[in-house]
Amino acid sequence: AKGAGRNTQRFFDPDMQAAVNARSNLEADLRQGLARGELCVYYQPVVDHRARLLGVEALVRWRHPVRGMISPADFIPLAEQTGLILPLGQQVLQTACGQLQRWGERKQTRHLSVSVNVSARQFRQPGFVAEVLQTLQGCGADPRKLKLELTESLLLGDVEDTIARMEQLKREGVGFALDDFGTGYSSLSYLKRLPLDQVKIDQGFVRDVLTDPNDAAIVRTILALAQSLDLEVVAEGVETTGQLAFLRLHGCEGFQGYLFGRPGPVEDIDAYLSHEL
Ligand code: C2E
Ligand code: CA
Ligand code: CA
Ligand code: CA
Repeated sequence: AKGAGRNTQRFFDPDMQAAVNARSNLEADLRQGLARGELCVYYQPVVDHRARLLGVEALVRWRHPVRGMISPADFIPLAEQTGLILPLGQQVLQTACGQLQRWGERKQTRHLSVSVNVSARQFRQPGFVAEVLQTLQGCGADPRKLKLELTESLLLGDVEDTIARMEQLKREGVGFALDDFGTGYSSLSYLKRLPLDQVKIDQGFVRDVLTDPNDAAIVRTILALAQSLDLEVVAEGVETTGQLAFLRLHGCEGFQGYLFGRPGPVEDIDAYLSHEL
């Protein structure tokens, strides 16, 4: 193969061909998995400073018949590239709204909110607002208990359009969180313009908050900023009581992380609630 011309060699590069095959296999697999109901939703607790459950974040999982449980990092990017994020996102939303309806029926669980991740591509789709409202209505779920988590990548698009869509949903009671806050491109002026209810501090800042003075400063700044803009804050990736103490000291009121619970099937949330009192 040494003698082959550059282009020819590149075209027949077996590694690259293997990568292309793997990708299209995974795409076909994901398409099939979606159709066969292999995707499911895990829930992770979001709690207050006394570890009482405020709500959950819905996190998709793929129960692959051969490869076992696949984490979203391994298929969400592909789903975004191929457009499969649209049916995938709709399935997650449908499941989350069904859960909201069930929790809404009982006094002990009526207060719980469900946060759902929304990709930029999904949010920008023409029928997105109508789809969310129809799903809520079809399930009989309370829109005020649904939170949509957006990322700063949305700010790269048409901000007027983003605000208009958010306003339409907010009018019906749906809440919004800015996910992975601090990792993206948001200028503070945009942050102020978006009709947000919550920001989530990225786990990358929480991890070393006790040992890295830069991370500590960023976390304190986000908390102060959120306070002055009247936004709720949820810190992600809280794994230790030390991190919790730091966050509480600086005014954080919502927490999510392995310290309180890993993402799991809804039964884990029921168990969490039954141990609360
Ligand atoms: P994310 O929205 O930032 O979700 C939080 C991630 O942090 C989850 O990973 C969660 O399992 C993990 N995590 C929570 N607590 C801790 C902790 O204490 N320590 C550590 N090390 N990690 C913690 P997961 O479930 O693997 O999801 C990864 C990403 O995939 C999510 O990040 C989100 O961006 C995306 N994703 C998940 N479900 C969906 C979905 O339904 N739709 C879309 N568009 N994206 C999704
Ligand atoms: Ca999220
Ligand atoms: Ca996040
Ligand atoms: Ca660091």
